[in-house]
Amino acid sequence: MILNAPGSDPSSPICSAKACRADAVWVLAWNNPKLHTPERRKTWLACEEHREHLSKFLGVRGFLKDVVKLEDWHAPEGTDAPGASRDGES
Ligand SMILES: [Zn+2]
Repeated sequence: MILNAPGSDPSSPICSAKACRADAVWVLAWNNPKLHTPERRKTWLACEEHREHLSKFLGVRGFLKDVVKLEDWHAPEGTDAPGASRDGES
């Protein structure tokens, strides 16, 4: 009832940036049209420090769809658990 965090992990979500263990504040929703259907959303989590960096990383590739506060994030159907793909698609 307190946390409406993405995924089912009740522990504090952490930033998806490499080697960062800070608490996540932002959810970056993205989609790679080459790999995903248009309504599919992958998500990354970001702390305040890494929000811009991760947003740019996705933005330059045209993948970034949405950046929302973690507390305001409601994962749409089909959204993968955050942090599942920390370095993008390989
Ligand atoms: Zn971070």
